[in-house]
Amino acid sequence: MTTVAFIGLGAMGYRMAAHLPKHFDQVLVWNRNFEKAKQHATEFGTQAVSLEQAVQADIIFSCLPTSQDIIHLIQPLQIKSGSIWVDCTSGVPDAARELEALLKQRNIAFLDAPVSGQTIGAENATLTFMVGGSEAAFNQALPAMQAMGKLIKHVGASGAGFAVKAVNNMMMAVHLCAAAEGFTTLKAHGVNLTEALDCINASSGKSGVTENVLPQRVLNRKFPLTFALPLLAKDTGIAVDLIRQAKLSAPVIGLTQSLIQAANDTSEPDSDFSAAVKMYELWSNITLE
Ligand code: NDP
Repeated sequence: MTTVAFIGLGAMGYRMAAHLPKHFDQVLVWNRNFEKAKQHATEFGTQAVSLEQAVQADIIFSCLPTSQDIIHLIQPLQIKSGSIWVDCTSGVPDAARELEALLKQRNIAFLDAPVSGQTIGAENATLTFMVGGSEAAFNQALPAMQAMGKLIKHVGASGAGFAVKAVNNMMMAVHLCAAAEGFTTLKAHGVNLTEALDCINASSGKSGVTENVLPQRVLNRKFPLTFALPLLAKDTGIAVDLIRQAKLSAPVIGLTQSLIQAANDTSEPDSDFSAAVKMYELWSNITLE
């Protein structure tokens, strides 16, 4: 019998872990604010346990804000020998390699397995997993990832999953800035933004941002908090570090990182990532609605 644990029941983890009891007999959950773990157990039939107990599972998932949080959490723990740690945090590739090496000494495999698909994908078990690390560990953890995701890809050695995620989110940030600038321009020229959006979404300028973020978050002025702006700023920072490490020139990405960082620095607390467009609204005195 495979025991599965989930550590970190935030916006993503709470919803992801909810699918595991449909596929595994014993699912252990832990959260820093332990009330959330108890609530999860009541709602989904998981078991709220101490962190020390959670890391005795065969497959241990984690989903915390940053790699730094994961390193601090893992270092003092006595984790079950022979287990696989699957980290779904959008983390730093160097940290994945560091953790893989550290845990290997204790006969534990580490996979960097960030996800995309947002909270709705977590809720519907339709997430995309991009996984770095040993292929054997990937194959062993695959059924547990399949319980929460739809497309699950092994993308390379340790750190590759985090790299793919950082570049994906950086590209999304580029689209977000481009859409904010494009739609501010259209509004300045008196164009109906809803009609313009329909045209663009049937044309070559479309992106995930124009198809989902603009209609569902910006133009309706809802900006629901499901993916915090500081987390996007963290991801764009990881992408810029990757570019620097590879000694590449990437001016669009460099500029986008500065813009997202500035939006984050000036945004209200608890802002959704989509609220980055408000910086453009402030500059132009134009509201995107
Ligand atoms: P949340 O802020 O909603 O949740 C963070 C979770 O981590 C909470 O359970 C929190 O516990 C816990 N936590 C925070 N710091 C620590 C710590 N130092 N030690 C132990 N536990 C800690 O974040 P999300 O769920 O939105 O994001 C988690 C990760 O997933 C991030 O890396 C993010 O970039 C990524 N991601 C997010 C997506 C989204 O749409 N939200 C989509 C794809 C990836 P507590 O409840 O006690 O605060």
